[in-house]
Amino acid sequence: MTQPTEEFVLRLTAPPNCPPPCGRPGLLSARFPNSWKNTRGEEVHGLREAVLCPECDRGEPPADALLALFAVDDQIAGSNAEVFSRLVTAWVESVRHRTVDLTLLNAEVQRWQKGSL
Ligand SMILES: [Zn+2]
Repeated sequence: MTQPTEEFVLRLTAPPNCPPPCGRPGLLSARFPNSWKNTRGEEVHGLREAVLCPECDRGEPPADALLALFAVDDQIAGSNAEVFSRLVTAWVESVRHRTVDLTLLNAEVQRWQKGSL
């Protein structure tokens, strides 16, 4: 079940910070095409940017592998470029398929409406 990898743009120099409430400096970011269906059921195409955060992304296997590489090598050079490219592709694939869990979101909204948050 291998899907073709779509292109993504990687930013290693001055990547954006992790979104709030974290706000820590990101290690790298990747920008990739993203599409979703709007309320009329039409396909909408856009771009999404994901930031690799040393705190928030810890515990997810593709991110952990990448974080481990950053912990060992502070520069991506010839010797580790191949490993880096493999790990970063795996990470982008994992964040690309990360979607909002609507059940969890609805439960959260109901708690918020009841004033229990
Ligand atoms: Zn974070």
